[in-house]
Amino acid sequence: MNRRYTMRFLSLFGLGLGARSGHAAPPAPGAQAGTPAAAPAVRMTDAEWQQRLPAAAYRVLRQEGTEAPGSSPLNREKRRGTYHCAGCDAPLFSSEAKYESGTGWPSFHTPLPAALGTKTDFKLILPRTEYHCARCGGHQGHVFDDGPRPSGKRYCNNGVALKFAPAAA
Ligand SMILES: [Zn+2]
Repeated sequence: MNRRYTMRFLSLFGLGLGARSGHAAPPAPGAQAGTPAAAPAVRMTDAEWQQRLPAAAYRVLRQEGTEAPGSSPLNREKRRGTYHCAGCDAPLFSSEAKYESGTGWPSFHTPLPAALGTKTDFKLILPRTEYHCARCGGHQGHVFDDGPRPSGKRYCNNGVALKFAPAAA
């Protein structure tokens, strides 16, 4: 792994863990809030990721970019199936957890068990909870507390960071 990237990754995690200790919000059912920053199981150098991923997916997954709202075809995806990480193919969400949030990003109320890790980021000054694929560390989106019952969570996901696999008919 590229050393400079590794240091940046670790410092981001360190910031997230330190910042989160003051929060006492209960984790969503199935969410991995508070999970220690375990090393991702899928590791590649930044250069390898850049080579492997389309530019738009690389920007989101490896640089925590955000796609333009309404830009993902997955906003309109209504079939039964599973949403996988576009970086490493780990299954992250069932179609049963998807709902129309009206935000222009694919939205889910519950992740698959142990699929995600979280950290706090301050990109917009106010703290937000960033979440990422637990297997490869790829950034997926942010989770908010204005989702539907019963979880009350809204996982606001970049469509370009996901691949949809329809269920067999
Ligand atoms: Zn992944």
